[in-house]
Amino acid sequence: MSQQTLFDFDNSYVNLSPKLFSNQSPTPVSNPSMIALNHTLVEQLGLNTSDFQTDEGLAVLSGNRIPSGAEPIATAYAGHQFGNWVPQLGDGRAVLLGEIVNKEGTRYDIQLKGAGPTPYSRNGDGRAAVGPVVREYVVSEAMAALGVPTTRALAAVSTGDTVRRETLLPGAILTRVASSHIRVGTFQFFAARRDTETIKLLTDHVISRHYPQLRDASNPPLALLAETLKQQVELIAHWQSIGFIHGVMNTDNASVAGITIDYGPCAFMDTYHPSTVFSSIDHASRYAYQNQPSIAQWNMANLAQCLLAIIDEDEDKALQAAQDVIDSFPALFSESYLSRFRHKLGLSTEQENDEKLIADFLVLMQESHMDFTNTFRQLSTQMDDVQANTLQAQNNTDSFFEKSETQQWISRWHARMQRDNNSTEARVEIMHQNNPAYIPRNHKVEQIIAAATEQNYKPMEQMLSVLSNPYKEQPNMQAYAQAPNEDEIVRATFCGT
Ligand code: AMP
Ligand code: MG
Repeated sequence: MSQQTLFDFDNSYVNLSPKLFSNQSPTPVSNPSMIALNHTLVEQLGLNTSDFQTDEGLAVLSGNRIPSGAEPIATAYAGHQFGNWVPQLGDGRAVLLGEIVNKEGTRYDIQLKGAGPTPYSRNGDGRAAVGPVVREYVVSEAMAALGVPTTRALAAVSTGDTVRRETLLPGAILTRVASSHIRVGTFQFFAARRDTETIKLLTDHVISRHYPQLRDASNPPLALLAETLKQQVELIAHWQSIGFIHGVMNTDNASVAGITIDYGPCAFMDTYHPSTVFSSIDHASRYAYQNQPSIAQWNMANLAQCLLAIIDEDEDKALQAAQDVIDSFPALFSESYLSRFRHKLGLSTEQENDEKLIADFLVLMQESHMDFTNTFRQLSTQMDDVQANTLQAQNNTDSFFEKSETQQWISRWHARMQRDNNSTEARVEIMHQNNPAYIPRNHKVEQIIAAATEQNYKPMEQMLSVLSNPYKEQPNMQAYAQAPNEDEIVRATFCGT
């Protein structure tokens, strides 16, 4: 059998310490076939599309063949799930084949998700159904196109086997690409075992892999905490600005690289309401839209706990230093959040009452049950002198903008814009770059999943194409911009594990 080099692996994690993982090959599947291959990402990674369009490529993407240079492992981690401590989680259905480094020198994990049981599977089957795989593929790629740091989807294949959930469903495997899969929970796994040596190893690895500028910091673990927190701040502010609700912000789903990871019951908010929750298992609304910033801070406090022992030998000093970093979260978040929402309003300077201006608009939207995405997108048409070429999605924004409360707010906004000294064109430009026309709407995602479950991948392909350019109106694609009709509204999402 010829051994083509699909990936030019250059593995580092597997060489750090055997404690970090278990060797684990993917479990073969019966009859793989391609659902989607991400040509753009293949190229960005410096790989060859044609290599993946062969039997060999399909065999690798389905876990039926281990590509040359791979050192397949399942990584160990722990985590707080909905606030409850679980000392051992780990990759229960994912196998990390290895790492590659692209032309720009960036290192990426290549992981098969749904590749069979591992020592961390607990009672799970190690598999994934086609629905969640399609959901993760489409939503993570949409996030990337929206400019949000995220894991990516290189390919999705169906396995030819069924998985048992509430019903029997076709199985699938996602090839996930990430700048790393190291989580807060990875640190927690070793901190809980008082394994300071491994915490040190991990700290050094994360610094050299993600934050090389911190190598010379006076206290690298403390600097790592501060930088990871900053990345989380930026990430969550970004999520808030596009109405993304992650749904399972457990510490094992919190990346130390600052990327969005683990697309389970995630969803984009249609109608704006700060307490929106989609996840069917989030009974206490822990991970509601408005709670995402404070949960991220809580997750960072857990990372801080893991690093205390190597921040300072003096426990009190370590605690104080770490606490100071954690306490910086709200102010940093507010700054990042305001900056994003100013842009959504076409504002480019910082002024005193901006926070109130933004908050008041959100309240108006909430009171009128407005669609978050479309209302912001159409706001640019409310400038006095604009002839915005904004797509008229079917929605009720017109009557909202005619309301006297909204009109009063618009006058304040107009006055505020005058103080920016920007041209209308420049304002519209900022607004269009920060208010997407297209997001992966839940009801559309459900439609492509239903089709994919019947082996029809065309709708998924079309949706991916629209979402690859989310800030630009595309002819004849209004359906993707429309808020759901009453009977299309998705009220709950399931992680599908
Ligand atoms: P998640 O909610 O996807 O972040 O998963 C939480 C934990 O459950 C992780 O340790 C996963 O690896 C594990 N897990 C989820 N689904 C399965 C499955 N079908 N089989 C085995 N482990 C799973
Ligand atoms: Mg997870």
